[in-house]
Amino acid sequence: MAGEGFDMPKGDLMKGKKGLVMGVANGNSIAWGIAAQLAAQGAEIAFTYQGEALERRVRPLAESVGASVLVPCDVTDDASMDAAFAEIEKQFGKLDFVVHSVAFANKNELKGSFVENTTRDSFLLAMNISVFSFVDVAKRAAKLMPDGGSMITMTYLGAERTIPNYNTMGVAKAGLEAATRYIARDLGPSKIRVNAISAGAMRTLALAGISGGRGMIAQGRAFSALKEDTSMEGVAGAALWLLSDLGRSTTGEVVHVDAGFHMIGLPEELAEGGEG
Ligand code: NAD
Repeated sequence: MAGEGFDMPKGDLMKGKKGLVMGVANGNSIAWGIAAQLAAQGAEIAFTYQGEALERRVRPLAESVGASVLVPCDVTDDASMDAAFAEIEKQFGKLDFVVHSVAFANKNELKGSFVENTTRDSFLLAMNISVFSFVDVAKRAAKLMPDGGSMITMTYLGAERTIPNYNTMGVAKAGLEAATRYIARDLGPSKIRVNAISAGAMRTLALAGISGGRGMIAQGRAFSALKEDTSMEGVAGAALWLLSDLGRSTTGEVVHVDAGFHMIGLPEELAEGGEG
């Protein structure tokens, strides 16, 4: 059943590896697509979910890939993080990889004017959940990686360029990408690699919270080099590369998996017919 709904290549690239996947909310979550691919390559996975309300959705997914460890974890709550990592240590003893696929900003920050709509409390909440949590997770996970390991987080082009309505989340993603480099530098001597995947817009719960999220998908496709949507299989494949030994020399990197959207400066349709 590994990877139900997706066509994930099977193999042994993750055989013998144990890891933690954070951020599955439902079957559309990017974390789930990645987990399905890792499981299809033999990984043993512990899942965390945000709270009781999500357990109903996450449990059947976790069970479908034979996961034995499924624990609640709210990244804003130290006691919840302590309990989750204690359980993972108890069950697994060590970790080889971590997938951090967690972000949040209040809806009222994800529309209109960034300057006008950004409040201190909402800004700090977004930074706490979407940036600091990766630092905290990395610190805790590194202690369970005596033989080295690999971690990834999820980011978006709105970190590098302004995207309408992405606002606070764009600033958070810029912080997350910088944090990825600093964590990679600190953990490098321990042979722990740390990278970010910058995915194109995909239809998930998180995207639904962004005003004009559907437009981000449609325009992302129209302005992409490949003229297609970003696929879950493509994102999961990049995750497999980075989390397996195939990625052994790559750390501190932000890998774009967005059908080439990030490198287009001016789409043909806008260049044609202009004056001057
Ligand atoms: P999603 O809604 O399925 O996943 C977001 C996850 O964050 C959920 O599982 C949610 O429970 C978790 N979360 C939020 N607050 C939390 C908290 N306090 N404690 C623990 N978990 C918490 O949506 P997704 O699109 O799969 O998002 C996953 C990651 O991918 C996010 O970092 C998102 O910004 C990033 N991303 C998404 C897209 C896209 O278009 N969907 C593109 C690029 C990057």
